[in-house]
Amino acid sequence: MSFMSVETEGVRRANMYKEVKLQDGGMEVTAEILAVNGLKKHFPFKKNWFGKGIEYVKAVDGVDLHIDYGETLGLVGESGCGKSTTGRTIIRLLDPTEGQIFFEGENITHLGKKQLRQVYKRMQLIFQDPFASLNPRKKVGNAISEVLYVHGMKDRNQRREKTEELFEMVGLRKEEIDKYPHEFSGGQRQRVVIARALAVNPRLIICDEPVSALDVSIQAQIINLLMELKARLGLSYLFISHDLRVVRHVSDRVAVMYLGKIVETAPTEELFKEPAHPYSKALLSAVPVLKPGSNRRKLVLEGEVPSPVNPPSGCRFNTRCKYATRKCREVEPPVKCIGQQHFAACHLY
Ligand code: SF4
Repeated sequence: MSFMSVETEGVRRANMYKEVKLQDGGMEVTAEILAVNGLKKHFPFKKNWFGKGIEYVKAVDGVDLHIDYGETLGLVGESGCGKSTTGRTIIRLLDPTEGQIFFEGENITHLGKKQLRQVYKRMQLIFQDPFASLNPRKKVGNAISEVLYVHGMKDRNQRREKTEELFEMVGLRKEEIDKYPHEFSGGQRQRVVIARALAVNPRLIICDEPVSALDVSIQAQIINLLMELKARLGLSYLFISHDLRVVRHVSDRVAVMYLGKIVETAPTEELFKEPAHPYSKALLSAVPVLKPGSNRRKLVLEGEVPSPVNPPSGCRFNTRCKYATRKCREVEPPVKCIGQQHFAACHLY
């Protein structure tokens, strides 16, 4: 498939999603590229004499989320809340402990390595550190060519041609495909990693802190590139980041995660203007407001994040929440719909 046709295919998919929504009368029907139900990932922390886990780090503990075709879902939260583990479990780098992952309607929760190879033609992951995800002894063009070979492009000349196309698409010169990773700057290396992810024509890319290792000036360029590619190829993103300003800029909707669970999901602007969950309010109050005269106060979160080995009963945020009641300590709040596409798990609603 030529790059031009990939582009057309991507745009067609994004449009198809819109048509489906209109035909079925709007918000009721979704064309989801990804749906995750009750996802858990527990890591054994202490083992008994027989090597069986008796205590677990509950890094992800019952996550539900979905992403529509052509949509970017931002996933935010303090470090250690389970964002990256969620991303890695969705793409099956980690085996889920419980729950289900549906990708383009197919249940991929328990697929074996061979079947996952087919999934990786449509779903890719971009890591935080581009240097760590490239082999320092391999020319970057060969790293991309290898991906193309594994996914069925056996002709050497065709692979070189496609690698050059990908390089140009991510803003690099095609002559640079014969360089080694250390010959590039941090931003250029991340462009190489993006080119490698695009080599298989993915529909969904999980971006795990894709710009946090880069200088601020370079961050903007990479973010703009990701947004351009999304529009051009009809991509969907799960955008994991602790940088709230970046998430606000790139996301259509945002999910807020606390201690292994999603506590609030909402369209981006609604969440940033009127967060509902007390944790989201505190987290988002840290984003500087550039409007002159704005009197938004930064809310300070008291106390440490509790241990994911032994999370608090009831609402997990109750040990740090100024509104906590007895009910909060005893009963886990269900997720409630509190507006259009706006959900929160809090007894206040
Ligand atoms: Fe606070 Fe209770 Fe809401 Fe949890 S459920 S966020 S403790 S008010």
